[in-house]
Amino acid sequence: MSKQKINKILIGTNNKGKLREIKSLLPKNIKIYSTSDFNLRSPVENGGTFEENSLIKSKYFSKKTGLICLADDSGLEIDFLNKSPGIYSARWGGRHGDFNKAIKRVYKELNKKNKNWKNKKIKARFICALSISYLNKKIACVSGKVEGYISAEPKGKNGFGYDPIFIPLNKRKTFGEMKPSQKYKMDHRYKAFKKIRKFL
Ligand code: IMP
Repeated sequence: MSKQKINKILIGTNNKGKLREIKSLLPKNIKIYSTSDFNLRSPVENGGTFEENSLIKSKYFSKKTGLICLADDSGLEIDFLNKSPGIYSARWGGRHGDFNKAIKRVYKELNKKNKNWKNKKIKARFICALSISYLNKKIACVSGKVEGYISAEPKGKNGFGYDPIFIPLNKRKTFGEMKPSQKYKMDHRYKAFKKIRKFL
């Protein structure tokens, strides 16, 4: 019989796409709370890495609620753009988190770099750092990634963020064209989740 260590948890994100995906990964017998249950704004993410920002969030939300918190920090690295947007992935969407704006910025930066970029394979990866904290104490912090490349144009309406422009390695469809169940089985968050689930 497996030992259940945590029976309730707060998911420390205000991003609906991430919340949906993390909920689908968690064991069904854990009571899940979200930041909207507590009307919480996100903290300033001033860490220098995905791991640091994830811990800033899990500690902040845990201290605000007194609950154990699972938080993620994630983003897209594009090699041709010196790994941008990286930890600034959300910020490329502007103050209102406009994903179309973020995608336009990617294409603008690629065009600036090389007008012929569509003839090259633009290597990219999604990275996700997941952490669990209780108050100011880190319980666990792990990361996962999925390699792929940037599509010459946005495709598909599923998912969120940069999903319409990311094609995972050895696939033809963007994450935006895939069913959520197909994306969830191969993405960065799932890979990080596999490493952290023993702490749940
Ligand atoms: P943050 O972790 O809240 O700072 O935001 C990460 C940003 O990276 C999101 O707002 C998305 O733009 C992007 N991102 C992270 N994970 C994914 C994903 O699975 N699909 C598409 N975009 C993602």
